[in-house]
Amino acid sequence: MAEYLASIFGTEKDKVNCSFFFKIGACRHGNRCSRIHNKPTFSQTILLQNLYQNPRNAAHSLEGNSTGKPTMTEEEDQKHFDDFFEDVFVELEDKYGEIEEMNICDNLGDHLVGNVYVKFRREEDADKAVRDLNNRWFAGRPIYAELSPVTDFREACCRQYEMGECTRSGFCNFMHLKPISRDLRRQLFGRRRGTARSYRSRSRSRSRERERGRDRDRRSRSRDHGSRSRDRRSRSREKRSSSRTRRSRSRERRSRSRDRRERKHR
Ligand SMILES: [Zn+2]
Ligand SMILES: [Zn+2]
Repeated sequence: MAEYLASIFGTEKDKVNCSFFFKIGACRHGNRCSRIHNKPTFSQTILLQNLYQNPRNAAHSLEGNSTGKPTMTEEEDQKHFDDFFEDVFVELEDKYGEIEEMNICDNLGDHLVGNVYVKFRREEDADKAVRDLNNRWFAGRPIYAELSPVTDFREACCRQYEMGECTRSGFCNFMHLKPISRDLRRQLFGRRRGTARSYRSRSRSRSRERERGRDRDRRSRSRDHGSRSRDRRSRSREKRSSSRTRRSRSRERRSRSRDRRERKHR
């Protein structure tokens, strides 16, 4: 019997545990689900609920947008997404530890829209990240972070969507992941096999990009991390033991973003 229960755990046959929560880390019934949502006490994966705010979704719901035309081009949309992805990825990896995988949902249902799943290499790092991030704000909203049962994203993803055949579109209950551009993928994950050299070239291209986009207020708006983080940031600056060049480069980056924040408050 125990063996049978173990074999159906988290599947559709399991009448006790919710298979959606088990596989996807989110279920449309939320707390009212008739089956149990088993929240893990240890996991490599964390979920940041509804963190990515796609400006396209906001444009759709805006009243008075009667033209029916999308307010952003495909390229602008991808750029906005890539910038968000890179910011979150780099900051979380710098602060908490190596990331194996990061995925963001393009679904529209409330329980999945903008969900960011980050799978760390070490469970300790995921634990630290959840505890810390729940005290923080992003883009003017509090962050909701939790350890997630998702370990295998292939199981969580909608196969029809990957074939371009999902008929439920945004309201599907399996993950529809929004891909990052190939260039960004190469920057963030290409260094896995590589050395410090590739890391360095990554930050160089980041700062170049930043120069260019510095004055766009869309960017500064999305980077409102709240004032609490400044303290922590300076503390972690002392702790940082990596190479001097890298340290000073990121300090530069940080003071630039501080400038931006101050400009905004004026
Ligand atoms: Zn459920
Ligand atoms: Zn689907």
